[in-house]
Amino acid sequence: MKSLKEEIFRRTVFITVLMILLFGFFISTIFYRTQTENINNFIKTKNSELEYFIKSYFIKMYNAIEYLSQIREIRNAPFLKEKERQKVLELFKIFEKIDQDINYIYAGYNNGLLLINNYTPPPGFNPVIRPWYKAALKSFPNISQGIPYQEIKTKEWLVSISKALVDDKGKISGVVSIDTSMEKVIKKLNENKNITSLKNIIMKDDGTIIVANNKLYLGENFIKKYNISKNVLKKQGFFTYAENNHKKIGYINKVGKLNWYLITSINEYDIWYPTLLKTFIIIFIISLLSIFIGFFYSGFFSKEILNALHNLQYNLYAIIEGKTNKLKKTNYSYIEFADIAQNIESLTNNALYEKNKELTKLNQILLKMAIKDNLTELYNRNKLFEEIKKEILNFKRYKDPFCLIMFDIDHFKHINDTYGHDIGDKVLKETGKIIKNIIRSTDIAARWGGEEFMILCPHTSLKNGITLAKRLKESFENHDFGIDSKVTISIGIIEYENEKDTMKNILKKVDKKLYQAKKEGRNRYIY
Ligand code: GH3
Ligand code: MG
Ligand code: MG
Repeated sequence: MKSLKEEIFRRTVFITVLMILLFGFFISTIFYRTQTENINNFIKTKNSELEYFIKSYFIKMYNAIEYLSQIREIRNAPFLKEKERQKVLELFKIFEKIDQDINYIYAGYNNGLLLINNYTPPPGFNPVIRPWYKAALKSFPNISQGIPYQEIKTKEWLVSISKALVDDKGKISGVVSIDTSMEKVIKKLNENKNITSLKNIIMKDDGTIIVANNKLYLGENFIKKYNISKNVLKKQGFFTYAENNHKKIGYINKVGKLNWYLITSINEYDIWYPTLLKTFIIIFIISLLSIFIGFFYSGFFSKEILNALHNLQYNLYAIIEGKTNKLKKTNYSYIEFADIAQNIESLTNNALYEKNKELTKLNQILLKMAIKDNLTELYNRNKLFEEIKKEILNFKRYKDPFCLIMFDIDHFKHINDTYGHDIGDKVLKETGKIIKNIIRSTDIAARWGGEEFMILCPHTSLKNGITLAKRLKESFENHDFGIDSKVTISIGIIEYENEKDTMKNILKKVDKKLYQAKKEGRNRYIY
């Protein structure tokens, strides 16, 4: 058997947990979506911001390179005199001064000439074989995409962008190049890193990383390193890749004319971790709340129901134990309980009524059994004692005479033996009837035991007692008991005369008279 209270609690908790799970699922889905959206927007914004910065940063370099590549002296430098070359170097110096972001401006030529300020090339230096030179030729007539390199002395990262020069004869004579520091850009890429895994890189269309917020990546090939499809380069947007088993989400965007690609990426972890955290916190709060509400509700609910049940139980016991005065008055909040209570009460009332009836009947039987003899329906020995006691008292007070008659059926053993016990019983029953017929209503007739009887006659003198005895004797003689032999009785009669006589005495006396009647030949009365 289950306890109602426990069951209510169990079910409330079950429903609460179910609600929490459903709610948690719902909430986390919403959180994940908004988080994804927020992060995507953040990445996009960051990317555009950087794109704008880079564009405006490099556009100066581009414009400078474009401008310098148009200058006649620069294009035709190998054919110029030393003085004119000095003018070119002066121009380079001016540009370097105007824009602090420009580190070096220099031009190399296919005849081995190198125009540069404050630098003496090592012996055997050949500009034609330098990467910046080759890149410019490759990109001709456009500006090269840029080559990242680290300055040995300062460890500073620089990018060289260059453009091939065409001399007056229309032939490529050399390459003019600007080296610009990446430090500012790198600093910019590192700005506002409120998402730890945020990474920004700039790569060329072949995948070479030219700028990155982590210098370790510089010069590496992004596409090859992360095994990224070349299709990603085709349009701006989101793509995914993996780094050290971390799933990454990247956003790629082409940086205008530069033909560079700006990639902003984060760990996917950064989307679901805050989602999980937020969900967990919300669910935790809701759980606490739900558990609290669950406890409160189940407590409240079970109290309401259980109190009603307990009261019903209590009242039921009170009714069963007959302590109806102890019934608790209860206002049941629910119709069902009130109904049950009412029905139980009326049911028990009915049952009680029936029980009462039965008890009264039984009581009457008991009462009868206490004073009456079953077979003859005369009084029993107990009742007779009581009545004699009363009469003795009565005599003491009023000197009111009374008689005591005792009789015994003659040779009753013979009747039993001849006709059987049943007939013997029948004779005893008939005896009862005969006595009742002839005594006064105030007389008390009792079966003294076996086939001996006693009649107490209040307010009766010996004379009247003798008359009764005589009539009694004759009644037996004349009665038809339905058997062949006659049924006679022997009778003893005494009158109570001496108030000093005790019960014992008078019984002895009357017994003596009866004995005498037997002795003298039976079927007679002696007084
Ligand atoms: P006596 O004339 O000397 O009185 O002889 P008796 O045979 O009547 O006396 P006794 O005392 O020898 O026998 C009484 C018998 O009455 C014995 C007993 O079995 C019988 N008896 C006593 N009570 C009942 C009874 O309730 N029903 C029947 N059928 N017989 C009873
Ligand atoms: Mg006898
Ligand atoms: Mg007898």
